[in-house]
Amino acid sequence: MDTPRVALTLMGVPIYDVTMDETLDWVSRWIEQGEPRQIATVNPEFLVRARADPDFRAILNRAALCIPDGIGLLWATRMRGRRLRERVAGSDLVPNLAEVAAERGWRIFFLGAAPGVAKTTAKILTAQHPNLQIAGCYAGSPDPAEEAGITSRIRNTGADVLLVAYGAPKQDLWLARNLAKTGAAVGIGVGGSFDFIAGVARRAPRWVQRLGLEWLHRLVLEPWRWRRQLALPHFVWLVLLRRDAPRHVLVGGE
Ligand code: UDP
Repeated sequence: MDTPRVALTLMGVPIYDVTMDETLDWVSRWIEQGEPRQIATVNPEFLVRARADPDFRAILNRAALCIPDGIGLLWATRMRGRRLRERVAGSDLVPNLAEVAAERGWRIFFLGAAPGVAKTTAKILTAQHPNLQIAGCYAGSPDPAEEAGITSRIRNTGADVLLVAYGAPKQDLWLARNLAKTGAAVGIGVGGSFDFIAGVARRAPRWVQRLGLEWLHRLVLEPWRWRRQLALPHFVWLVLLRRDAPRHVLVGGE
């Protein structure tokens, strides 16, 4: 197979049926091939936003892979009679990627998060995987005025993989504009993953994740996110009513 398998399109966004192991295999293949490819970690908030934002939706359609990050996606696809094999959380992908990168010699660049967090993340992952090659760490800013400086900084490090933690949709828009200029083969928008690894934020315990309640844990610990989390009931409503992206602005729709 030349590209990952799309299971269905939800709200104008392709939902891929991939496992964690397959995701790592795709990354490996794409690093060998060398052309820039973007990976998005799609959850219900992404879909609600993409439905109303054609630019964001187009970027998700152009991404090489949208991993199903969020139990809501597994539920929504089941409602459409499809079954995804696995939830592939971006926060799990980063440590798994670090492990494989250490074995294969891939160089990773950590971009984004609050000052110092990317560096702490890299330090923790290097302590776990001493062979891990860190291309660089930089908080920077998603402000377009900084793009030229950031892309040349990354290009000079010879990074293979670029992880961007600017939150969605900024990180994904940033990658769509800049990945090719950085020289990295694979760019992934990783949301709050650095915060979890660095211990700035706490992830839900495994049993809460297994119950599919990681979103609730996040809401309890970070109640100021309530407005963003309104996307969740909105998402359920849209799925139940089968409201996809409005036809006239669909990109690669159902
Ligand atoms: N972030 C950043 N610059 C910004 C906005 C966000 O570096 O202008 C970082 C923030 O510090 C955090 C990450 O982006 O580490 C993800 O933020 P959030 O948790 O809001 O994103 P989500 O995981 O919900 O996409």
